[in-house]
Amino acid sequence: MNAPIKNRLSPRTIPGHLLQKYYKSGPRYTSYPTAPQFQSEFNLEKVQAEWLKTNTPKGKGLSLYIHIPFCAKRCLYCGCYTEAGHNRETAEKYVSALFRETDRILKLIDPKRPLEQLAMGGGTPTFLKPELMESLIAGLNQSFKFSKAGERSIEIDPRSVDDHYLDLLSELGFNRFSFGVQDLDPAVQKNVGRIQPEEKIAALIAHLRGLHQNAINLDLIYGLPGQTPESYSRTIAKVVRLQPSRIALFGYAHVPWVSPHQKELEQYHIPTPEERMALFGLAYDLLLDAGYQHIGMDHFALPQDELIRALNSRTLTRNFMGYATRRGLDLIGIGASSISSVGAAYAQNEKEVRKFMDQSENSTWIKALVLNQEDLLRRELIIDLFCNFYLDISIMGKKFGINFQQHFRQELAGLKGMEQDGLIIIAQDHLQVTDLGRFFIRNICMTFDQYLAKDDSTIRYSKTN
Ligand code: SF4
Repeated sequence: MNAPIKNRLSPRTIPGHLLQKYYKSGPRYTSYPTAPQFQSEFNLEKVQAEWLKTNTPKGKGLSLYIHIPFCAKRCLYCGCYTEAGHNRETAEKYVSALFRETDRILKLIDPKRPLEQLAMGGGTPTFLKPELMESLIAGLNQSFKFSKAGERSIEIDPRSVDDHYLDLLSELGFNRFSFGVQDLDPAVQKNVGRIQPEEKIAALIAHLRGLHQNAINLDLIYGLPGQTPESYSRTIAKVVRLQPSRIALFGYAHVPWVSPHQKELEQYHIPTPEERMALFGLAYDLLLDAGYQHIGMDHFALPQDELIRALNSRTLTRNFMGYATRRGLDLIGIGASSISSVGAAYAQNEKEVRKFMDQSENSTWIKALVLNQEDLLRRELIIDLFCNFYLDISIMGKKFGINFQQHFRQELAGLKGMEQDGLIIIAQDHLQVTDLGRFFIRNICMTFDQYLAKDDSTIRYSKTN
């Protein structure tokens, strides 16, 4: 059953020649410069100085990301930084390492600054036993000043929790719950090694709603082996019945040279680029028919969701976790592989669990980058275009003390072809991404990425459509 194509723009109505022309590898711009530009040879004092600089009397609010890199078993499609096979004792040692890291961080960050957002991801955060989760949150409550109106979100593997665990998370102040669903078709679940009955997910969501927890996200993946338009339509219809406030619809990235366990999936038919586009297109249409709005790239939300409000007020932003609502927070990442973005510096932690726990007294960072003025300018520009599809040229010019037209003469010339293809409107005082251009936003932003022109780093990125 294919969704009918309504009289509106949809991925399924994009002319084939445009899809072909713009089908290339490119960043998802969760940072600029992007992670491949972070350097392993960096000056620790300089990065620390950037952090210290942010503690002004009007210091920005904070966002804290905690990575829990444990899973009971690897799902065959997974590309996350996680490790399977660890026992609960390792998890306890890991939480102690998180506390050591927090202590070090609080020598650089004023703990009185309000913590506006807490996000816990993985891996499987709920791999932690309930009492360990409780002591982790208790420790963080002591270390940071949580804002009362703050958001506390957590990623949940439905197989790893029961109602009691959800009760605990709610008591601990979590108020946004993100379930990894991927696909509800039993045959696809079997192929990818992740069996989780739809009834179980529905029951967990119902339980949360009984606790007045209505901020529910569901993560889906298209392009998995065994998915067909018919099976995926059924999955989307079931997801719509669950009425999550947000839906992330990620494309499966088959990169067995990075994630060797994905090789096992090659015994099945992996959807071709055209088939992937068809799956994305039908999901897009079904979600819009059901009242969801497209945020950008791979995210959808119900009209009353905060993400839609941020999109409409042009305050949507982007960080390592994807789209976010509160712009301008300094992001601290703790735990293996986490990335921080504080002031003008990025810093990335050691990725391997054992090495992370065996951290030095000074730092857990293995890579970092201090941004120069040009990076800061381009970062702001790319976030604006990527998230809000609009750029106010005069504000940008004033803020950074540049003549925008002159400064970006080459880039504006580079956008001309996209303007002719109907992707962007280049006006004297603003840039406006068109409805069609939203589907090519990565290509548009790549025009302003200085680093792509310098090396062939595009091979490290996924395809743009
Ligand atoms: S539960 Fe999530 S993080 Fe863990 S292996 Fe599966 S997809 Fe990856």
